[in-house]
Amino acid sequence: MDCVFCKIISGEIPSNKVYEDSDILAFRDISPVAPTHILVIPKRHIASAAEITHSDGELIGKIFAKIADIARAEGVGNGFRVVSNCGETAGQTVFHLHFHIIGGRELSRSLG
Ligand code: AMP
Ligand code: ZN
Repeated sequence: MDCVFCKIISGEIPSNKVYEDSDILAFRDISPVAPTHILVIPKRHIASAAEITHSDGELIGKIFAKIADIARAEGVGNGFRVVSNCGETAGQTVFHLHFHIIGGRELSRSLG
């Protein structure tokens, strides 16, 4: 499959890894919008948040627990944003589910 994040998981494309286990990979965004900008992805290809089903509950819970761990480890545990753009209209450019962890600077209250 022609998916840049699947290629990062397989090692075909290099990445700056922050965390990895059998289900999850976290790596630094290549084009950071804040001092801390990390992407957390499931290793299984899920196209977007719109494709998550109830049977993915354990995986998604694991991802969010890891997001909290990573934010603490990065020193942004007291203030960070988790974003998942879902669909082209919402700005999604890579169609493999990912959660942005953004922090390390003052974040605007605007969500749109
Ligand atoms: P989105 O626009 O929400 O789909 O987010 C995709 C993100 O992936 C963007 O913030 C890109 O900067 C990031 N990105 C794209 N290719 C790479 C790559 N090879 N390594 C790290 N981050 C990437
Ligand atoms: Zn993929």
